[in-house]
Amino acid sequence: MREIDRTQPVTLAGAGLVGSLMAMFLARRGFQVEVLERRPDMRRETVEAGRSINLAISTRGLHALRQVGLEEEARRHAIPMRGRMIHPLSGELTLQPYGKDDSQHINSISRAWLNKFLMTHAEATGRVRIRFKQRIQHVDFESGLLAVHDDASGATREERAPVLLGADGSGSAVRQEMMKLPGHSSTQELLSHGYKELTIPAGPGGTFRMEKHALHIWPRGSFMLIALPNEDGSFTCTLFLPFEGPVSFATLDSPGKLTAFFTEQFPDALELIPELTHDFFKNPTGSMVTVKSTPWHVGSRALVLGDAAHAIVPFFGQGMNCGFEDCVVLDGLLARHSRWEEAFSEFFRARKPNADAIADMAVENFIEMRDSTASPRFLLEKQVEKLLLNAFPGQFLSRYTLVSFSRVPYRLAYEVGSIAGSIVTELTGGISRAEDVDLERAARLVRERLAPFLEEHADGFRTEG
Ligand code: FAD
Repeated sequence: MREIDRTQPVTLAGAGLVGSLMAMFLARRGFQVEVLERRPDMRRETVEAGRSINLAISTRGLHALRQVGLEEEARRHAIPMRGRMIHPLSGELTLQPYGKDDSQHINSISRAWLNKFLMTHAEATGRVRIRFKQRIQHVDFESGLLAVHDDASGATREERAPVLLGADGSGSAVRQEMMKLPGHSSTQELLSHGYKELTIPAGPGGTFRMEKHALHIWPRGSFMLIALPNEDGSFTCTLFLPFEGPVSFATLDSPGKLTAFFTEQFPDALELIPELTHDFFKNPTGSMVTVKSTPWHVGSRALVLGDAAHAIVPFFGQGMNCGFEDCVVLDGLLARHSRWEEAFSEFFRARKPNADAIADMAVENFIEMRDSTASPRFLLEKQVEKLLLNAFPGQFLSRYTLVSFSRVPYRLAYEVGSIAGSIVTELTGGISRAEDVDLERAARLVRERLAPFLEEHADGFRTEG
């Protein structure tokens, strides 16, 4: 087994969010890092940052940024979102707080800003070189040779990469090459829904035309619209719609049908999106995929992390947060192990159950967001949940708060969430106001069902990384 040798450069595939952050962690441990990035340098040329324009960063992602001294500056560019603002088809808007109080919030941040910020800080370590327009095409794990296509010159060359980290996203070339080896396998599940981004421009003087500190949702059953605030006063909306079927991207094929659809389903949003037709027909329709693969490494040669190892659908706002947590965990393992293979295999063992858990929770949250958030029973359950979080601090825990506001492993968040959810459902039966919840019965249920689980898994509640 090969020793970890800090005089040997590490090759990183992808200078996306996870690759750029991982490069910083490696540089701080004394490694020279060669990053190969397929896209042009987005700080110099106008390029699509890929996928969503903004995203939600929460406790796990912020914790990772704190480790490399970048949390504060990132927070200055982020907009706290304290809850979901539900836009029903008729009736009042309602704010469903995310946590027990306003201190528990998620944050909207620009993907392009964050990616540029991370690349710049990685390079500033003096140990990271990012080479752009370099597309990895083929990996020979035996010899440690890569075939790299230079998109600028059109030439393909061979490059040595004795240690390769693949952070090249959900369509990862490194993972695809790995999966050709015996004992490796992966599944990709494409969601039957796609997404389209639309813009609500800022009001006069950069004002926000809806509540700034919320993630807006228009839940409509089989489809939904959401909107996250941007620093300049605008909102980026994302329409999630089936690709095919009666109400789908396939049927919204003319400006007339599109406007009629928005008039019927999202009248308040329609008024705020002046370029609806232009944006809808010009912007690409994105697809979403869950990737589960096993294992994530090839001996001491290569490892995949971030979306390359475990892409998930975006409905828990955790893909990047989970990838950033990967960086913290791998960094910790590199401090403890003297051999690459040990660090890689422990990384896989530790992260795989958690990556699978958040993948499943993200799919479940899709149904919750587009369907349940509209129902009065769901709203009541959320109010009861908040009441219990405040009444039994540290004893009652909810899935959403554990995922978004703690670093408790996702697997445990999943399991605690199921128990907590059953308690809430039981307590909410037969009442119509959260204040009427029977607190004595609640205390008993928490004691009988949650306490033993928390006790049994006390070790697991010590966070990774
Ligand atoms: P990527 O960001 O995809 O970066 C991969 C990089 O590798 C890119 O720069 C790419 O150009 C490069 N690359 C690819 N192939 C090659 C190659 N062959 N050679 C060299 N370079 C290559 N997550 C959250 O935490 N919160 C959210 O709110 C959130 N919202 C989302 C909304 C949407 C609509 C979507 C689709 C995703 C969302 N995510 C969110 C998930 C998040 O975008 C991803 O988890 C995150 O981008 C993963 O980072 P990554 O660096 O692993 O991959």
